[in-house]
Amino acid sequence: MNRDVDPIELLIQELTKFPGIGEKTASRLVFHLLHCPQEDAEALARAVLNLKEKVRFCSLCFNLTAQEQCKICQDERRIEGVICVVEEPSDLIAIEKAGAFKGRYHVLQGAISPLDGIGPDNLKIKELLERLRRGKVDEVILATNINVEGETTALYLQKLIKPLGIKLTRIACGVPSGGDLEYIDRVTIGKALENRREI
Ligand SMILES: [Zn+2]
Repeated sequence: MNRDVDPIELLIQELTKFPGIGEKTASRLVFHLLHCPQEDAEALARAVLNLKEKVRFCSLCFNLTAQEQCKICQDERRIEGVICVVEEPSDLIAIEKAGAFKGRYHVLQGAISPLDGIGPDNLKIKELLERLRRGKVDEVILATNINVEGETTALYLQKLIKPLGIKLTRIACGVPSGGDLEYIDRVTIGKALENRREI
């Protein structure tokens, strides 16, 4: 860290690395921190460190968790036989907020994107197939995003999963083309799941 950098400037610089935070918002946050009680600032700093130290990936579905397995994998009320495959934990959160799904998840941790150098081996596809081969799964819902990468990934998974004789479905239109699940409203996500089609 450069010791000559002004502490205010330094924090503004760090905050502008966040998605959606420009310099103006970063400045507002910094001035808020300057005015708030010392213990609030300390609590924030601790929460950030705590997050980095404790949060890891669920050993089964690769959702984010502070435990060995995430809350959803541990929840016996969730239907074990239906797995919804998503790209990122943020997609899982979006579907959970929609409240339209009661099964389990598998988070691929990305999508196939040759241009970005991301191939199938960079994703949690092998782990998904292992889960499916262990049995107990009746349906896999492919809920990767409706864009080139998401469709490529869905097609790739279709070729691998179809021979296993498991029912395979793809979330329906309703999710706009180019749609990133994370930014789509709850009703639309609910409809997209409800109207999923078998592939
Ligand atoms: Zn899990």
